[in-house]
Amino acid sequence: MAQPQMRRAIESGVPDNQQYLHPLLKKNYGNWKYHDRPRPGVLHHVAHGGDQVWTVRAGTQRQMDVFTIRRLCDIADQYAEGHVRFTIRSNIEFMLSSEAKVAPLIAELEKSGFPVGGTGNSVSMIAHTQGWLHCDIPGTDASGAVKALMDELIDEFRKEEMPNRVHLSTSCCEINCGGQADIAIIIQHTKPPKINHDLVANVCERPAVVARCPVAAIRPALVNGKPSLEVDEKKCICCGACYPPCPPMQINDPEHSKFAIWVGGKNSNARAKPTFMKMVAAGIPNNPPRWPEVSEVVKRILYVYKDDARPWERLSDWVERIGWPRFFEKTDLPFTKYLIDDWRGARANLNASTHIRF
Ligand code: SF4
Ligand code: SF4
Repeated sequence: MAQPQMRRAIESGVPDNQQYLHPLLKKNYGNWKYHDRPRPGVLHHVAHGGDQVWTVRAGTQRQMDVFTIRRLCDIADQYAEGHVRFTIRSNIEFMLSSEAKVAPLIAELEKSGFPVGGTGNSVSMIAHTQGWLHCDIPGTDASGAVKALMDELIDEFRKEEMPNRVHLSTSCCEINCGGQADIAIIIQHTKPPKINHDLVANVCERPAVVARCPVAAIRPALVNGKPSLEVDEKKCICCGACYPPCPPMQINDPEHSKFAIWVGGKNSNARAKPTFMKMVAAGIPNNPPRWPEVSEVVKRILYVYKDDARPWERLSDWVERIGWPRFFEKTDLPFTKYLIDDWRGARANLNASTHIRF
């Protein structure tokens, strides 16, 4: 009798992507001659051996129900040889070996509600964080704000009429896992946390919470005879870092949790060095379900940049050329001393403690 085989451990980590590649991409891996874009939303790659691949890019809502995923898979099976991939901004891409299939695929995607675009100098899909659906600490719904904004920017997604590509991101807490972007929308808490002292001793590891605070504003305290914590509100910078390890330190507030807009971040080192974004507007109401005040500020910055930047200037290059005073003049945003901190003075206003944090 055959011996039962031991089940081998499944290593965690990123699987080898070769097994999922479209056959033509696998065959010509690292051997491409050139690529171009026949129209917005379509990439065309030509290999040294003569093989050609057309890639059609469409926007998705990122957080998808199973019916939407099945619909996309059906489209891939019917029109696109059964292969798809996702970009870092949650666009879906279908790879085709024949140009004749491109137009029917585009028609099917548009008919099914997936706009085709997001390539070249367009406003690509907004990279957004989890929001209320998955994460345990959001102060707003990132995906909802994205939906409201992209409804208004869909034409800029479909066309390639910006000076350079525009990356937007939305983050639903100040941890900002949405990352750097040309324009970023980030939640901003404006009041210190409110502590539910009855729950702290049961739920929170107090030393861990004390160590979390970047400005050493949290101290252990005895409240009503129970071990708890207290916050020195003069020191607190309302960062929200104590809320994840200690939910009884509630910082979300329908009125005092606001939105801030940051601009000029970029990860790439094409043309100029990568840059950190800087805050240019604050105190914008967190106003679901359409966040109209956020859309108004983002569109104002976007369209001034579109009109004023030179060809191929990223938003950070444009601001660098015209200077911050003219940025605020042109966008007609109010300037305060709290905006565009360039970090040179950060020793005074950030991390002034010697705590070790994890
Ligand atoms: S931005 Fe903050 S709240 Fe939103 S998903 Fe990331 S860590 Fe969670
Ligand atoms: S971690 Fe942040 S929000 Fe919490 S007390 Fe410290 S500064 Fe205030």
